[in-house]
Amino acid sequence: MTNICYPNKHELLSVEQALLEIRKTIETVNEREHIDLLQALGRVLSDSVVSPIDIPPKRTAAMDGYAFAAGDVAAGQAAKLQVIGIAWAGRPFLAQQRPGQCVRIFTGAVVPEFADSVIAQEQIEIDGDTVSLPLDWQPYKNIRAAGSDVKQHEELIAAPKKLTARDLSLLAAAGIEKISVKRKLNIGYFSTGDELVALGGPLAVGQFYDSNRYLLAGLLSDPNHTVSDLGIVADDPLKLEQTFKDAANHYDVIISTGGASVGDADFVKQTLEKCGQVNFWKLALKPGKPLAFGKIGRCWFFGLPGNPVAVLVTYEKFVKPGLEQLAGLPARQALRLRVRCDSRLKKSPGRQEYQRGILYQQAGGELAVRLAGQQDSHQLKVASQSNCFIVLNADSTGIDAGEMVTVEPFSAEL
Ligand code: AMP
Ligand code: MG
Repeated sequence: MTNICYPNKHELLSVEQALLEIRKTIETVNEREHIDLLQALGRVLSDSVVSPIDIPPKRTAAMDGYAFAAGDVAAGQAAKLQVIGIAWAGRPFLAQQRPGQCVRIFTGAVVPEFADSVIAQEQIEIDGDTVSLPLDWQPYKNIRAAGSDVKQHEELIAAPKKLTARDLSLLAAAGIEKISVKRKLNIGYFSTGDELVALGGPLAVGQFYDSNRYLLAGLLSDPNHTVSDLGIVADDPLKLEQTFKDAANHYDVIISTGGASVGDADFVKQTLEKCGQVNFWKLALKPGKPLAFGKIGRCWFFGLPGNPVAVLVTYEKFVKPGLEQLAGLPARQALRLRVRCDSRLKKSPGRQEYQRGILYQQAGGELAVRLAGQQDSHQLKVASQSNCFIVLNADSTGIDAGEMVTVEPFSAEL
C-alpha cells in the first residue's frame, strides 16, 4: 500500500481521492459459504445462478375462465362449447377432448394440450354445461407460455449482488434451495478517549458517555457482518498498541473512533504506524477531517475522528464503501437528488460539506429540503432528526434560501 504524498503538507486530500485510494487498495474476500435460501437475504451472491427449469414450467392460465381450441370456432362468430371437465391449479385436466368442447380452468392451472385460448369467465354465458362465447371473443389470450418468465438455462441472477426479497422469490421459483455467497466479514470496533464512560455508570466532571459505539453498532448492522464491540480504550499508546495487535489477529477489519487527530492525546496514527502500514489523511471534508486508513497484518484498519457526526460522515463516505468492496460488492454511487432548499446554508470554501438536512415531500409532490438545525459536529440531536446529507462542494460559499442543492438520502436503494 502506498502512502499518498501531499504536494504540500498542509494541503487537504479530497473525498474522491481518498475514496479512490481505498477502492484501489482493498481486495475482496475469496472464501464462500453455501447457505440455505432462507438465510440469504442481504448476503452477497458469489456465483451467478442459472435456472434449471422453465418458469412457469408449463403453459398455465392467467385467468379463471374456459380453455378451448380457437380452431373450433369461426372468427367473428358467437359459438357454444360443451364443458367436459375442470383444470385446477395443481390438478391438471388429462382426459381427451373433441371439437366443440372446452374445459373450466382456474388461474395457474396447466392449460390442457388441445387448448390454445382461455376466455375469462366474465365474458361468457353459461347454461348447464354449455358455454356461449360472445361475437368478439379473441383467440390465444390469457395463457402464460412455459418459460415466459425465465427460460431453462437462462441466467437468473448475475453475481455479485446483494440479495433482495425479490431475488429470493426468483430463486425459489426456480427450485433453488441453496446458493453460494461471500463469507461474512469479522469486524471489531472500539472507542478511544480518557473522557469516555460506558453506559450504566454516573458521569464525573469532564466525562462523556460513549455514544460512538452505539452509532457504529447501528451503522454496521448488516447480514454480511459479524461485529464485536471491543469497548473503550484509554488514550495510552501501550494500551492502544495491545488492542490493535490483539484485534488484528481476530478480525478482517478494525474500526476505532477518536484520537485520530494530531493533538497530544491522539495516538491512533503513531500506533498504527508502529503496528502496520498507515495512510493518514487530512481530508477536505466537514465534518470529518482526520482519517487513518491502513493495515495491520491481514486486518484493515479505519481510524475515524471522535466527534459523533464526523463518525457518521466518515463511515458513510469511506468505511461503508470499503466494507462493500471487501464483501465483494461492485462500487456504487450514493443516490443524489437535486431539490430546492428552504434554508440559507452557510459555508466557507475549502472543504466538501455534508450538512444534515430534512428531505420532505411538498403537498404538490415535489421534494424539498431544509436544514435540520445547527451544524456543529457534536450535535447528535440534529443528526437524529435529519434524514439526508445536503452535499456542498469544496468550493461552494453557501447558498441562499430557495436555491437548488444536492442531497443524499440516508436510505435509498438503486
Ligand atoms: P478526539 O478526536 O479524540 O479528539 O475527539 C473529538 C471529540 O469527540 C471530543 O470532544 C471527544 O470527547 C468526542 N468523542 C470522542 N469519542 C467519543 C465517543 N466515543 N462518544 C462520544 N464523543 C466522543
Ligand atoms: Mg480523544
